[in-house]
Amino acid sequence: MDNRFNYEIAARDGRARAGIFHTPHGDLLTPLFAPVGTQATVKSVTPAQLKELHASLILANTYHLYLRPGDELIANLGGLHTFMHWDRPILTDSGGFQVFSLADNRKIDPDGVTFKSHIDGSTHRITPEKSIAIQENLGADIIMAFDECGSPYDFAKNEAAMERTHAWATRCVNAKTRSDQALFGIIQGGIYPQLRQRSAEYLTALDLPGYAIGGLSVGETKNETLSTLELVDTWLPEDKPRYLMGVGSPEDLITGVQRGVDIFDCVLPTRLARHHAAITRTGRLNLANAKYKSEKSPIDASCACYTCMNFSSAYIRHLILAQEILGATLLTIHNLYVLLSLMYDIRQAIIEGHFDQFAADFMKHWESAS
Ligand SMILES: [Zn+2]
Repeated sequence: MDNRFNYEIAARDGRARAGIFHTPHGDLLTPLFAPVGTQATVKSVTPAQLKELHASLILANTYHLYLRPGDELIANLGGLHTFMHWDRPILTDSGGFQVFSLADNRKIDPDGVTFKSHIDGSTHRITPEKSIAIQENLGADIIMAFDECGSPYDFAKNEAAMERTHAWATRCVNAKTRSDQALFGIIQGGIYPQLRQRSAEYLTALDLPGYAIGGLSVGETKNETLSTLELVDTWLPEDKPRYLMGVGSPEDLITGVQRGVDIFDCVLPTRLARHHAAITRTGRLNLANAKYKSEKSPIDASCACYTCMNFSSAYIRHLILAQEILGATLLTIHNLYVLLSLMYDIRQAIIEGHFDQFAADFMKHWESAS
């Protein structure tokens, strides 16, 4: 395998790991949180602002970019890095999750999925080979195998979705032609340990450069999520990064890292910002609230982000009520800063060997406020 995707573990603390994942667009220091840029843009902030926030990896959505503006157009314009002016690592998902959650009239068969676009109703078909072809046109550093996510409490459906995911992962490996992209497999199996174990064993036998844990945060309880993560952690190779898809509340980052997860992504910080909400290390605040009308202090006086260093809560509330775009931008900068700086602090605590204490202190503040 191409050694440009080596993963080195710099420090361990319990099951938590601090690592370095090498990619063609730079090293990723893990554990990390990846902001989501669904449409090849992290909503309401510029790439320059993302760099000031020290964002390293961003995620873009294959399904959306395939439908609009089209992956071939993006390839002709130099690929996703050039198109969106982001020269650091990018991850694209396989398109599977959006096909199953957004598209109309989808029909799944052993070969792939046929569906209608949620934008204009046109008919499309994505197979494992097509998903890889689209992701090769987009040109992200990390690409994902096309998978099917089961429903949390149905063993038979989970087993079928897992078997299909395995067959499709092998087809993705065979379809892949670019050596400058790392293909991650996705472990399925719902909340069922025996399925998760089979899935981990099948996919690790493919010797992929990284593994995602899929099919979580889809309706199961928090305890079921955590016990699944604990089991999967024991079956995955130590020297490959583990990616928990679509998870990103501060609490989830802490509990995920405690169970050996290295990479997270979530729309939460950017979506909450557009709904007037600020994330802090002790919970959420709604900046549209009347109590901020003449509040001189920032969102969080202990936060060192651009927003909190320069703007009062009263000003942000004014921007929200006046429907000014800057309101969403300032809240996005703050929310991303909170998650990215939390991950930085988590990594430091792992390296310094006191992550358990850090996590216990964090949870004490988090629970007392919520
Ligand atoms: Zn802030």
